[in-house]
Amino acid sequence: MSTAASALRQVTEPAALRAWVADERRAGRRLAFVPTMGYLHDGHVELVRVARRHADRVVVSIFVNPLQFGPGEDLDRYPRDLERDLAMLDGLADVVFVPAADALYPPGSEVRVVPGPTAERWEGAARPGHFTGVLTVVAKLFNLVQPDVACFGQKDWQQVVLVRAMVRDLDVPVSLVVVPTVREADGLALSSRNVYLSAEDRAEALALSRGLAAAHERFMAGERDAARVHDAVRDAIAVHPRVSAEYIAVVDPHTLEPEIRVSAASVVAVAARVGRTRLIDNIVLGDGLVPGRTA
Ligand code: AMP
Repeated sequence: MSTAASALRQVTEPAALRAWVADERRAGRRLAFVPTMGYLHDGHVELVRVARRHADRVVVSIFVNPLQFGPGEDLDRYPRDLERDLAMLDGLADVVFVPAADALYPPGSEVRVVPGPTAERWEGAARPGHFTGVLTVVAKLFNLVQPDVACFGQKDWQQVVLVRAMVRDLDVPVSLVVVPTVREADGLALSSRNVYLSAEDRAEALALSRGLAAAHERFMAGERDAARVHDAVRDAIAVHPRVSAEYIAVVDPHTLEPEIRVSAASVVAVAARVGRTRLIDNIVLGDGLVPGRTA
C-alpha cells in the first residue's frame, strides 16, 4: 500500500481526531501511526515513509510528553519548531496530531501504565519513571488513533521492548514495526537532541557510534565473550575526553539482562554524556548495520 498522502491536516483536539479516525475506519481504511516529540529529522521521516507502506493513512503525533521527563531533565528546553515539522510532513502524512498537555492530561488524570522489571534497567535506571510516562502516553495515543500499525525506531531500543511488552500484556490490537536507526554519514545517530551539541561536542559525539562499530568489529572477528565486547566499546569511548559513558550494555534483546556470551541477536547499547548533552545509541551485533564505517 502506498497511496499518496492527502493534504496534511493538523488536529489539536482529541475529539476531532476520534471523529476523523471513526470516518476512516468506517471507510475501511488501514491506519498507521508514528508517535514523536517533534523537531523532526530524517529518522522520523523514515518512520513515516515505512508507515506509508503499511497503511492507507498515516497519523503522526507531535507531543513533548511531560510525564516522561524527570526533574532536572530537558523538558523546558526540548527543541520545538512546529512550522518546520509541518513542512517536513507535508506530502508524507495525512494527519498530524498536536495536542496541548492538558488535553492529554486534564486535571484529575491519575491512571498510569506501569511497566515491569525490564523498565528498571539501563534507561529506566538512569531516568526513574521515564517508561511509565512513555507507556502511558503511547497507550493513550493508541486508544485515540486506533492504528493497525505503529512504527518505532530501533534508536530507542528499550522503548521498543517495553511497548512490545505493553501490547502483548494488555492485548492492544496493533502491529509494531521497528525501523533501523538513521545516521549521519559519519555514523552519529540522528536525534532531536543533537541540536544541543556545540561543534566540539558534535565531533566528540562520534564516540558512541565508534564504540558500537568497535564492538561489531570484534564480534565479526569471532569474539563471543560479552566482557570483551563491552570493553571494546569502553576503550573506544575512553579516547574522547569530553564523553563520559553512563552505561554500556551488552544484553539479551528480550530480557535486557547482561550476557556472558554474545550472539548475533545481542544488543549493545550505550548512553553517554557529551558535554551537557545526554545521547543514546545501540546496535544489534549481527545486523551488519555498522555505524560510520566510511573508510
Ligand atoms: P522522538 O521524537 O525522539 O520521541 O522519537 C520518535 C520516534 O522516532 C521514536 O520511535 C524513535 O525511536 C524514532 N527515532 C528517533 N531517532 C531516530 C533515528 N535516528 N532513526 C530512526 N528512528 C528514530
